[in-house]
Amino acid sequence: MSKPLLIARDLEVAFGGVKAADGVNLTINEGEFVAIIGPNGSGKTTFLNLCTGYVRPVAGEVILRDMPITSLPPRRIARQGIARAFQIPQLFTDQTVLENVMLAIAAHRGIWQALNPLDRPDYRAEAMELLDLLGLAEQAGTLAGTLPEGLRKLADVTVAMALQPMLLLLDEPTSGVSALERFQLMETLMTAMRSRGMTALFVEHDMEIVEKYADRVVVWDSGQVLAEGAADVVMKDPRVLERVVGM
Ligand code: ADP
Repeated sequence: MSKPLLIARDLEVAFGGVKAADGVNLTINEGEFVAIIGPNGSGKTTFLNLCTGYVRPVAGEVILRDMPITSLPPRRIARQGIARAFQIPQLFTDQTVLENVMLAIAAHRGIWQALNPLDRPDYRAEAMELLDLLGLAEQAGTLAGTLPEGLRKLADVTVAMALQPMLLLLDEPTSGVSALERFQLMETLMTAMRSRGMTALFVEHDMEIVEKYADRVVVWDSGQVLAEGAADVVMKDPRVLERVVGM
């Protein structure tokens, strides 16, 4: 049995009258690749925001490897080991893909304002190794703003991985990517993350992707975890069928 990496306990948050988290309890184990599914407005994004410190719960706590992170600011949480890709565009569009990754490496070390990180051969080598891993070596010199959608998503993940997170949060990794490219994108992501021993939590609407790639599926509904388990089991749950159909 693997060890818990992230534990969310009794999380509650409301916006106006809407309970976006209504007693959320969830454990993510080390090395897992967990998918979150659920209707629009059910609180999936709010959960990611609670994990990264962008939303503060009114009750409950989030624990990362035995450390309570609930009251830490987002930057401290990132340093503790949670990185997020996709929701907020994090690429500098007028810099190359390589420069973006080098800047992320420098930011992670916390010294990028003191030195010129783009002149550092050690950052360059580390960034190229990551780009190789994500199949982006050929695009190293391309301006990030000119990348097509699928490659931009991979570049986003490369930047997030440069922060050496324990837990990577992915917001709809395959949205906006053609049906043909989706599986290729996921294969690349999975292989890269596994080779670095990372754990991932991803919000996804594409059930084929969920069934193929998630070790475990968590179904969100009205700010609560409605069901969780292996994809084939969860998808036969009548409550899930009722809520997920037409999602
Ligand atoms: P999902 O990601 O499942 O679509 P969200 O977490 O984005 O759901 O939203 C859950 C509920 O909380 C929705 O009713 C949404 O309108 C509301 N909500 C989320 N964030 C905010 C916010 N910053 N301000 C006001 N309401 C919000």
